[in-house]
Amino acid sequence: MKKAIKILIPVACFLVIVGIIGGYVLYQFTYHPSKWLVPGDDAVADAPFEDVLKGLDMMDNTWETAVPQTAIHDLITAHFASPLPEGKTEKKAIVIGYDGCRVDLFQLLATSKKSAVNTLLADGGHAVFSYAGGVNYPAENIQATSTAPGWCSMLTGVLSDVHHITDNNQVKEVEPKTLLISLVEEGIVDDSAFYVSWDGHFSHKRATYYAEKQYVKSQGLDATYRRAFFDPGTKLNIISDLKKKDCTDFIFSTLEYTDHEGHNSGFTPTNPKYVSAFRNAEATGVDIIDTIKARSTYDTEDWLILITTDHGGQGGGHGGPSIEERITFIVSNKDILSNTK
Ligand SMILES: [Zn+2]
Repeated sequence: MKKAIKILIPVACFLVIVGIIGGYVLYQFTYHPSKWLVPGDDAVADAPFEDVLKGLDMMDNTWETAVPQTAIHDLITAHFASPLPEGKTEKKAIVIGYDGCRVDLFQLLATSKKSAVNTLLADGGHAVFSYAGGVNYPAENIQATSTAPGWCSMLTGVLSDVHHITDNNQVKEVEPKTLLISLVEEGIVDDSAFYVSWDGHFSHKRATYYAEKQYVKSQGLDATYRRAFFDPGTKLNIISDLKKKDCTDFIFSTLEYTDHEGHNSGFTPTNPKYVSAFRNAEATGVDIIDTIKARSTYDTEDWLILITTDHGGQGGGHGGPSIEERITFIVSNKDILSNTK
């Protein structure tokens, strides 16, 4: 017995050490974007935020006339409600969310080699300023510029006074229903899917859509809630769905590259690591769009593709009332302003 313990203890210690080192290496080289991206040698010089926004000539509006982030809900609703264009037989929509992506990163689009935003704009798409916080800057915000309230407002079309999500780690009641449920229940789409890596969406008991996920299960709705551990896994989940002959009709996804790196080293385009995170989100977006375009039935499908963010950031965080945290963006392959209220 003593002999067995003498052997087992060192073996157990060895396995624990290997596990810790292996976990650390995996974390550094897979999740942590700045560790495996080309260093962002194209970070920009510091400039006043409002001046940078004025110079973004790809935008259809000004930050003063920004649309609310709830426009995402309205754009998707309008897309599915509008008649099928000539030659099209099916409607589809996807939201590619870049969590915590400051809009002044768009000054780097000119030097982007692989940009989903540029891809949509080159295909005749549009970009507009939007805002988080419930009301536009400089009016005092009525909603935190935080992750859960932001995405929830986009998914429900209402603010926290109605959906009651004022921060992360709050479980939303089933009502008001998100588009992931309402579009399926109303028979507007056959199915929906929510692809993420952040565990705060639906992966623990205090996650925003924890109750909603239970509801989906209890009702047998064709809505998939799938969390990967890292953004590359989210990309794989989305792409493997899009490669199916009859892919999911409505896909909502978030990528954490920019938010994670912003918290880690600073939400500013003067930070090379934050720029690298943006490049990574953008490259993922291109791979997703390319997969959509490669679908054998693409020519007969009417796709709405949206890229947006839940909030900006300042310093190492967000949640507050600053213009850097509140002015966001929506990019689409279709006209946005004429389709928003
Ligand atoms: Zn966020």
